[in-house]
Amino acid sequence: MAKKHKGRAIGIDLGTTYSCVAAWEEQNGRAEIIVNDQGNRTTPSFVAFTDSHRFIGDAAKNQAAANPSNTIFDAKRLIGRKYKDPTIQNDLHLWPFKVVSGVDDKPMIMVNYKGKEKCLAAEEISSMILTKMKEIAEAYMESSVYNAVITVPAYFNDSQRKATKDAGIIAGLNVIRIINEPTAAALAYGLQKRAHCSGKRNVFIFDLGGGTFDVSLVTIKGDNIEVKATAGDTHLGGEDFDNRMVSHLVQQFKRKNRVDITGNPRALRRLRNECEKAKRTLSHTNETTIEIDALFQGIEFHFSVTRARFEELNWDLFEKCMEIAQKCLYDAKMEKREIHDVVLVGGSSRIPKVQSLLQNFFEGKDLCKSINPDEAVAFGATVQAALLSKDYSIVPTLVLVDVTPLSLAEDYQSAVPINVYEGERTKASDNNLLGMFLLSGLPRVFRGHPFNVYFELDFDGILKVRAEDETTGSKNGITITNEKGRLSSAEIKRMIEEAASFREEDKKFKKIVKAKNDLDEYIYWMEKAMKDFDVSSKVSASEKQRIMAALREGERLLQSEHQTEASVFENYLNNLHNICQPICQQGPWIQ
Ligand code: AMP
Repeated sequence: MAKKHKGRAIGIDLGTTYSCVAAWEEQNGRAEIIVNDQGNRTTPSFVAFTDSHRFIGDAAKNQAAANPSNTIFDAKRLIGRKYKDPTIQNDLHLWPFKVVSGVDDKPMIMVNYKGKEKCLAAEEISSMILTKMKEIAEAYMESSVYNAVITVPAYFNDSQRKATKDAGIIAGLNVIRIINEPTAAALAYGLQKRAHCSGKRNVFIFDLGGGTFDVSLVTIKGDNIEVKATAGDTHLGGEDFDNRMVSHLVQQFKRKNRVDITGNPRALRRLRNECEKAKRTLSHTNETTIEIDALFQGIEFHFSVTRARFEELNWDLFEKCMEIAQKCLYDAKMEKREIHDVVLVGGSSRIPKVQSLLQNFFEGKDLCKSINPDEAVAFGATVQAALLSKDYSIVPTLVLVDVTPLSLAEDYQSAVPINVYEGERTKASDNNLLGMFLLSGLPRVFRGHPFNVYFELDFDGILKVRAEDETTGSKNGITITNEKGRLSSAEIKRMIEEAASFREEDKKFKKIVKAKNDLDEYIYWMEKAMKDFDVSSKVSASEKQRIMAALREGERLLQSEHQTEASVFENYLNNLHNICQPICQQGPWIQ
């Protein structure tokens, strides 16, 4: 298990489709979003496996169409759930990768890595994404990073939260807190807003991301941010909108060409990527065209999609967002007119129809777009990390009070076993049973005999329940550990070791790529120099021939698939430096 480490803490928004990391910048008194090695401020939550390598982030997403069955995404839709969960059963046919039921009905992802079949839990995939985010932060901060605040959808249940924490541990992180995504966004907004306003503000956070939807109603008063209510759906977001467009276009293609692409993961992945782009384009134009060369059986794909059609395809999902918004207001016992600000968070909140429905819902109120919807969650997580970290002298003076997202229903009968459920269903047994304990040593308990039940939620949203009878002083309690389906400490230990060996392999791979690039670049410049400049005054004809032969040999070495050691390329480059010495002594080509 991770130890407590000192050191600067980071905030990570671990998204279904994209993740984002930020660090606290003491000089400026603000969180700074960190760009990844590709210069992007968000990183695709993708991991891919090939015959020789593992890729994470942009590199994984970029090769997805060529390697669909081994390119894993949506781990967040699997984490902490059972295989038989209806949402997983519905998603199975949309995923080009294989998911099977494991021990305790845990969903396991099957990949082929280095020619062998490998079975991975969602926690492991998420841990790889977290490792990537950790490395992005370490490269920027030029030091090791251990402590992190990770965000989860407000509507994640106990098991999903714990599984996310396990993913952090496997990634070598000390997860100092798990916080709710809309709460993190509220922190980001609160920090910005309090500079400009005094008095109490009721803020409605509307967070529609790639895979999940959350709304929260918070009040900001001075340095205090209090979450009044939250509602959401852990399976509603941009990917569902993409899926609707994909299904529609698959049908159109079938009607026009009499071929069905649903059995071809490569074609589906290519279409899905283009649909995501088209969806983004439709946020600022009314019509767009999707063109894909030889999508299936050599047939070109060419279709137009209008914004109106996109909206029609997703109408029920957009409506669902508004119903959830209504539920949140209802839970907070607040009227629409009492809301001061409506803040948009999450990439999908850019969809114009979503914005107009939301604006109508709030009776024409202007929507607040002053915070970046892709970055607000990571920003807020980092503010929380700075508040918890002892290493900063300049941190905002904010106090955050959160709520439990899922209602907790207690079901007590004559024998006084206390069953603790989470969920929103009216009938207790329709909810998720977290655990049970007996309150014994009571006098004859009449129906309706009152005793107290206390729910204590720690900062990560992990639950302790205790019951106490005041008349007899009898008490008992339970900490909901939810071990069933959760990784055991032995499994976590094995995954940590495996993650370390993955890191070693990645390091080795990076070293080879660098050594090959250096050699390739040197050969390129030397060949150019030999061609563009008259080197006959510097070297004899036979020496020129020797250099050319050495350069060609270097090219052959670069093409060889058997060389897997960086030192082979490094040594050859040193050798080339010596051979090319005579033409390098002078000349405009020298870099
Ligand atoms: P997030 O989880 O907040 O990073 O949101 C990612 C989701 O936002 C993905 O499904 C994106 O396709 C979607 N998204 C990003 N930009 C836009 C846009 N301009 N219009 C519609 N959806 C978008």
